[in-house]
Amino acid sequence: MEENNVKSNFIKNIITEDLESGKHKQIVTRFPPEPNGYLHIGHAKSITLNFELADEFNGKTNLRFDDTNPVKEDTEYVESIKEDVKWLGFDWDALYFASDYFDEMYKRALVLIKKGKAFVCDLTAEEIREHRGTLTKPGVESPYRNRTIEENLDLFERMRSGEFKDGEKVLRAKIDMSSPNINMRDPVIYRIAHSTHHNTGDKWCIYPMYDFAHPIEDAIEGVTHSICTLEFEDHRPLYDWVVRECEMEAQPRQIEFARLNVTNTVTSKRKLKKLVDEKFVDGWDDPRMPTIAGIRRRGYTPESIRNFCREIGVAKASSVVDEQMLEHFLREDLKAKVPATMAVLRPLKVIITNYPEGKVEMLEAENNSENEALGVRQIPFSRELYIDQEDFIENPPKKYFRLFPGNEVRFKNAYFIKCNEVVKDDDGNVVELHCTYDPETKCGTGFTGRKVKGTIHWIDASHALPAEFRLFQPLILDEESEEDDGKDFLDKVNPNSLEVLQGFVEENMKGVKPQEKFQFIRVGYFNVDAKYSTDEKPVLNRIVSLKSSFKIKK
Ligand code: ATP
Ligand code: MG
Repeated sequence: MEENNVKSNFIKNIITEDLESGKHKQIVTRFPPEPNGYLHIGHAKSITLNFELADEFNGKTNLRFDDTNPVKEDTEYVESIKEDVKWLGFDWDALYFASDYFDEMYKRALVLIKKGKAFVCDLTAEEIREHRGTLTKPGVESPYRNRTIEENLDLFERMRSGEFKDGEKVLRAKIDMSSPNINMRDPVIYRIAHSTHHNTGDKWCIYPMYDFAHPIEDAIEGVTHSICTLEFEDHRPLYDWVVRECEMEAQPRQIEFARLNVTNTVTSKRKLKKLVDEKFVDGWDDPRMPTIAGIRRRGYTPESIRNFCREIGVAKASSVVDEQMLEHFLREDLKAKVPATMAVLRPLKVIITNYPEGKVEMLEAENNSENEALGVRQIPFSRELYIDQEDFIENPPKKYFRLFPGNEVRFKNAYFIKCNEVVKDDDGNVVELHCTYDPETKCGTGFTGRKVKGTIHWIDASHALPAEFRLFQPLILDEESEEDDGKDFLDKVNPNSLEVLQGFVEENMKGVKPQEKFQFIRVGYFNVDAKYSTDEKPVLNRIVSLKSSFKIKK
């Protein structure tokens, strides 16, 4: 069951206070992605948080594309982001593009200039950096800082009309070069970029910087609580300065929380883009990718992701969440929901030597032992079967209860079957097992004559449907955090992250549709691949194995 909004957190406390004090009548949150890549699991956290807070307090949530950097942005990303947010189960109240506010932002910059709170600076990016100072050393004022208001208005207008080249001039806020907060040392608020924008085309050649644009966007939309990740905590004084000095009517409040990091998982668009561009993966939606598109194609459900995001809650301190926690919520969501059937990933032929040739009988099998409502199906059983190579060892170690010469096991939903003879090829590989079945032991007849320790899955060979299975390991090894350890993260790409196997599923899986999910008994949860699967030959992505020792701490 999905439980909405069970956990309390410090953001809810702030909102409750603001509503009770009458500061706001209704809250407005926003999810503000930059359309420069696909969304990832970290964004899911921010999406869930923003939308569910608004839901809980009867507020509104906007989806706003923070598209103020023309160079990296693209409509492909805009479309994918909309799709992903919807798929996660959320509906925005309004859809906005920050670029629609370029005129308004320009006017607000003029307000600053006219108040003597912004100036056009001719220093290069390098020089600005040098002048900025450090945590222990105050900054040095720009020689252009005392230009007159008239001069600044004139130069800014000429920046806008395209008179200058990229980097030749910038507009800077005039705040305090000796502020202990480096963000307040006359930050750049507009830069020149002669570059076509995905939304505004060539209308503009100056673009606002994030720290200037974001508070204005929030204020224009009447966002009350502007939730962002912790690295912006030091930018909050600048956020408040922009809202105040630009004389915005609304007073949005920035609130920071710790970003989501997951073990063995890259949550940086820049790095994910590198994996795509350098073809380490099959696109942004490769099932190994931690993008929303990737985990969707892998087979994760929106419910499992939302439950995961709720469980981890919101904190003020960064931490790394175990990837197994996400897997836990997936299993919880799927275990009673999807049909359980049999699949053989690495086939080994079994001949039941005492079963009549040409005979086929139908056996009853439950579709999900945890959910009777999913009903039963009939599966064929005859003289030739497949089992998984992993369920047979010629010389087994102790406590191996599956098939080996002389041992008897239960074939799930069928009979007790004993291995009598091993057939090998010229190279000594086991290619076939000759077994016998005991008709007395038929499943469902209440047979109590004797017990066997192992139960294995199987598929009738003459009714098996060929299928491809894709098994995944983490794409990146040892990716604990975003912190750079000096190594190029591409060195940590796991060369064995994809294993492709050719095996069989039950015949009744013919025609399964993309994104249909199954539990393959004893093997794992699988999803029908949206790109490669066909009616004749399903391609199945393993979402997650069946078991884990992971427990949620209560
Ligand atoms: P990236 O570093 O991957 O490019 P970003 O923060 O630049 O991420 P944006 O598109 O600007 O990406 O992010 C949109 C929103 O999602 C922001 O409010 C941001 O704080 C939030 N967000 C991004 N990554 C995470 C994360 N790992 N955990 C929680 N929130 C995140
Ligand atoms: Mg960003």
